[in-house]
Amino acid sequence: MADKPIMRDPMDSEEAKAMESGKYNSHVSFVCVLCNKSFVGWGNNPDPLAKEGVCCDQCDMDKVIPKRIEEHNNGRKI
Ligand SMILES: [Zn+2]
Repeated sequence: MADKPIMRDPMDSEEAKAMESGKYNSHVSFVCVLCNKSFVGWGNNPDPLAKEGVCCDQCDMDKVIPKRIEEHNNGRKI
């Protein structure tokens, strides 16, 4: 294990690709308060699941939005 080749971190190249393709305008990275993964891009407001921090797009779609709809519907008694 002396001659360790320099390998690119796969996360790093994914990030580089995303930035190259213009998907992300920002290179600021966040740690999602809901899944604790770090992500690059724009953070989402995790309310009502968390009162501070930001969440990733995946959690926003999978957890935050359904929860908001649920609370909204409960409030309106649909
Ligand atoms: Zn997340």
